Amino acid sequence: MTDPLRADGTDLSTLRRLIDEMLDELVWDPPFDLDRLLGQISARRGKRISLYPAALPRDGAGGLVIERAKDLVIVFDETLPPLQQEHVIMHEAAHILFEHSGTSLEDLTGDEFTELDPELVETAQRFARRDGYSGAEEKVAEIAAALMWMRAGAARSMVPAPHRSRAVAEANARFEAALMNRRTSS
Ligand SMILES: [Zn+2]
Repeated sequence: MTDPLRADGTDLSTLRRLIDEMLDELVWDPPFDLDRLLGQISARRGKRISLYPAALPRDGAGGLVIERAKDLVIVFDETLPPLQQEHVIMHEAAHILFEHSGTSLEDLTGDEFTELDPELVETAQRFARRDGYSGAEEKVAEIAAALMWMRAGAARSMVPAPHRSRAVAEANARFEAALMNRRTSS
């Protein structure tokens, strides 16, 4: 039988249920911590995950995964606003969690994370555009990122306000303001 997570025709509610089942296997206790999430995904894959901020071209996806012999590098666009960067990292982490085979650069194996130079990132990006993920894989990663975001948000809202980062506090304030508007206008 075909894996519904890899098939093109799987309906959204099925995708969402299967992805939620996978996310249920991870720990989401508050406060939300991105490093802890990546640590859990890394443990499942049995490979270290490194983050690499870089200025990526505007027409790209905002991030990509480079698989090397000893680690998986999530490259993300450092020029995006912080919350968007986090979304991009979650999207790429989902590709890793669901074992999508996108950009594998096992022939370019620097042992140390610091050896990842801009030229390598550029090569990886060209490679990613040519041999990227399938449409089904992109859909799974995008839904997973949205669901991770919701779980992270739920974990964040249980943390006292002074301990939240400013960006999150601002996003929450906007959300609360929108809610209040809706309540008063209806
Ligand atoms: Zn993707």
